[in-house]
Amino acid sequence: MIIKSALFKGSFKTVEQCPTGKLPEYAFIGRSNVGKSSLINMLLNKKDLVKVSGRPGKTQSINHFLINDSFYFVDLPGYGFAAVSKKEKHTWKKMIADFLQKREQLLNTFILIDARHEPLKIDLDFINQFGEWQIPFSIVFTKADKVGKDVIANHKKMFEERLAESWENLPPIFISSANTQMGREDIFKYVTEMLNDNAKLQDAV
Ligand code: GDP
Repeated sequence: MIIKSALFKGSFKTVEQCPTGKLPEYAFIGRSNVGKSSLINMLLNKKDLVKVSGRPGKTQSINHFLINDSFYFVDLPGYGFAAVSKKEKHTWKKMIADFLQKREQLLNTFILIDARHEPLKIDLDFINQFGEWQIPFSIVFTKADKVGKDVIANHKKMFEERLAESWENLPPIFISSANTQMGREDIFKYVTEMLNDNAKLQDAV
């Protein structure tokens, strides 16, 4: 996909404050420091549209980026940062659960997983909530340049095995690196297919 424009549209504290209209959205979420800001910047070919690594957990808000005047990337605040207070954690949970469950134009959530690790409970627990909520998601392994192909293949397989314990159909798993642009084409192919399906659906209504 050619990115003609990518504009920051604002930070929002609640789903009710988020931009009105019907433009489709794709959300990004993961453990803090997973490489979310770097991935979004890489996908959009922007150096620092999304701020990389301030205090992790700092941005407790929903950030909208308008792409090519036709859809949004939504940067959601990360989870699993130890130094966040109980109150902050509670606020985060409510914000995320509300957004994911209520946002009708949300076509897909990319859940980011650090390719260097074997499946972590915190990530599996977060993913399994999507089943309860019945919300579509896919998985993106990040920082793939930091480990060898064999390790990635092994972690992917382990992940699929753990997911298969709870899920009948496994989501796609993309392998990405913000440093080498690995995964960019596959992710945009997927985004484009979903945009086309959504447009057909809207036409049919
Ligand atoms: P966020 O907290 O999830 O938004 O993570 P950031 O995008 O701020 O990245 C956290 C750290 O990981 C930063 O030091 C990045 O430079 C580094 N990082 C992110 N993505 C990659 C990647 O694909 N490859 C490598 N080698 N480092 C990365």
